Amino acid sequence: MEDLLFAYGINWPSYALPMERLAECFGVQLTRSYSRPTVRGGASLGFRSVARPDAVHMLIELKRLGLPIEPRSLVTALVDHVADARTLSASELSAYWYRSQRDKWPPRTIGSEGRTNRSNAIRETHRTATGYTVEFWRDADRIPREMTVRAPRYRRPRRQIDATCPECAFEYTQGDPDSSAAHRREHRVRMSVLAPRANRRIQAVCEPDTGRVRVTARSPVWLHREMYERARAFKREFRYDFVKWGSGRRDDDPMVQGFLFVTPDDRFTGACAFRWRDFSTDAPARWGLQWIWISPAFRRQELSIVTGLGFGPSLAISWSRHRLRPPWTLFSVLMGMRDY
Ligand SMILES: [Zn+2]
Repeated sequence: MEDLLFAYGINWPSYALPMERLAECFGVQLTRSYSRPTVRGGASLGFRSVARPDAVHMLIELKRLGLPIEPRSLVTALVDHVADARTLSASELSAYWYRSQRDKWPPRTIGSEGRTNRSNAIRETHRTATGYTVEFWRDADRIPREMTVRAPRYRRPRRQIDATCPECAFEYTQGDPDSSAAHRREHRVRMSVLAPRANRRIQAVCEPDTGRVRVTARSPVWLHREMYERARAFKREFRYDFVKWGSGRRDDDPMVQGFLFVTPDDRFTGACAFRWRDFSTDAPARWGLQWIWISPAFRRQELSIVTGLGFGPSLAISWSRHRLRPPWTLFSVLMGMRDY
């Protein structure tokens, strides 16, 4: 390690801080290595050593403390070496993150035992050649007690706040980039069913004069996606355990009939799904309404739901032989959300 540091131009003061002690500070365990015996049964010379990943980790840690070293080539060699590994040690992980975290590490404070009494301590600051800021605290006898090193590209993370989007109701953590990105993705999808926009493709698939699009196992994928997202909205709103439509790509139940409700200006306002029920010896087999979901913006418009959305005469007539009772039954389903 000392030779390595010497190669970086650092004459390590071993008398003040032996490498063994430094390894300990960085949580690195020394191991024993042995020279290969020249003859079988011959003696072998043992010496204490640092495993290669740990040596790289120590160099990274020293760089974090502001030392003018750049272990990038060793880091790259180590990362390449473990490219196919399914698990990584802590040292290998620090090499793995090196490129993205380099010079952005959070401040590191090291110090002697106990907290420094800063009221009568002396503060000194210093900037290293690599742009790191070092803050020293010395006690009244000018003995160094504490040191904080700040990396030049460190940015304090935004405070994280649990939030619920007022529009799409997605729960996420403000200030966490991953969580915010997940929200942006989900927001787009949810808003497409909560505030549907006109879609020119609907005209081509809408059954004439019914205000609805029938979706079966053989329908195009995009209609399955529209069904699936509304089934997902239904699950969210009524806290069901699972989504009652196959997937965003298809529902391969040959006996499923989904309906997407269409406004005159070509927007999907909601959906429902019927499945063939034939699992009771007491009741005759029949079509059952499995779920129905209408975008909140289109609720409380009974007339439009009954007639305009395809739930009125057209649906009632086409499904009359399937024991679909008049609309109030549908509304009770809407309210109670039991399988019908
Ligand atoms: Zn949102």
